[in-house]
Amino acid sequence: MATAKGKLSEYTAKRAFDATPEPKGDVATGREGPLMFVVQQHAARRMHYDFRLECDGVLLSWAVPKGPSLDRGEKRLAVQTEDHPYDYASFEGVIPPKQYGSGEVIVWDCGVYSPDEQGLHFGDRAEAERQIRDGMVKGKLSVQLRGVKLKGSFALVRTKEAKSWLMLKHKDRFVSADEVTEQDRSVLSGIAVTDLKFVPAHRIPAAQLVPAGEPSPLPARLEPMHGETAPAPFNDPGWM
Ligand code: MN
Repeated sequence: MATAKGKLSEYTAKRAFDATPEPKGDVATGREGPLMFVVQQHAARRMHYDFRLECDGVLLSWAVPKGPSLDRGEKRLAVQTEDHPYDYASFEGVIPPKQYGSGEVIVWDCGVYSPDEQGLHFGDRAEAERQIRDGMVKGKLSVQLRGVKLKGSFALVRTKEAKSWLMLKHKDRFVSADEVTEQDRSVLSGIAVTDLKFVPAHRIPAAQLVPAGEPSPLPARLEPMHGETAPAPFNDPGWM
């Protein structure tokens, strides 16, 4: 079992935190509720998607060159990379030139997940983490994702190459032949990854990515958003 520090030693060793805006981060403790997943689109030297699963206070990570697919016939290569700190989940921004992974990053999708081979464990974090640890040793994970773009059951299966896994969609009602990566906007800020060359990054704490905290009653009255006229169509994350 890696020590808390050891878990992120590879992540830390690869980065110069006086030069990159990426979070230094630490192993998260005291988290409650369902486990979180995130997919970051990363316009590095080669465009790819970083698929990350929260487990034991860090984000298990894979780089998926073609991105995830909802198509059942597709097997997408997923190369395992170093564990990332939990805080990394909400990172959107620009990794400067000459730094490790230089290029733009957006949060392409996020949500909660649970292992799903032996029932769902959204309400039992300890059991969910136990099954994920077990799956990492065996080289086979089956997870139910509840994201904005990615939904349903997915498998990650390790190949004979230790770091190379395949990501594929299990058959369920969320299977689709549509190329999900064509939905190219950040689920946090509404921008496409190339927009980060022109607009500032949008940052929120990782803990705000998925619903959490105490439920509270709805306000008695909500003021509706009113329509407006505009001279031309526009795109703004505050509007649908
Ligand atoms: Mn990456």
